[in-house]
Amino acid sequence: MKLDCSRCGIEKPPEAFHVCRANKSGRYSSCKECRRETEQPLRRVPTQPLIEAFHRSRLSKCELAKRMGHTRRAKSPNGIRQADTSPVYRILSQRTMNYETALRMARALNLDPVDANL
Ligand SMILES: [Zn+2]
Repeated sequence: MKLDCSRCGIEKPPEAFHVCRANKSGRYSSCKECRRETEQPLRRVPTQPLIEAFHRSRLSKCELAKRMGHTRRAKSPNGIRQADTSPVYRILSQRTMNYETALRMARALNLDPVDANL
């Protein structure tokens, strides 16, 4: 019996899907190929080097949030965007972070990703 991949929609033999006992079919709903693509951005890297770089940069959390694109529209009608620091607090409180987020933070700190061991 073939399975339909929930992501690419292509019908493939069961061997093309990773085993997942939690699923009724016994396999993941997306095929190995699709999972490879989606898993990559979820690579986690240690947060510590970036926290240190952030402290060295002497940027405020507000400024960092803005540079990382975390803003929200101000309540006042002038529409100026305000920094949204909650994602920054969340990042800084975790031991590891998403690789993509780490790259964005390194860029926001004018840091060469290589220097940040990314
Ligand atoms: Zn697929």
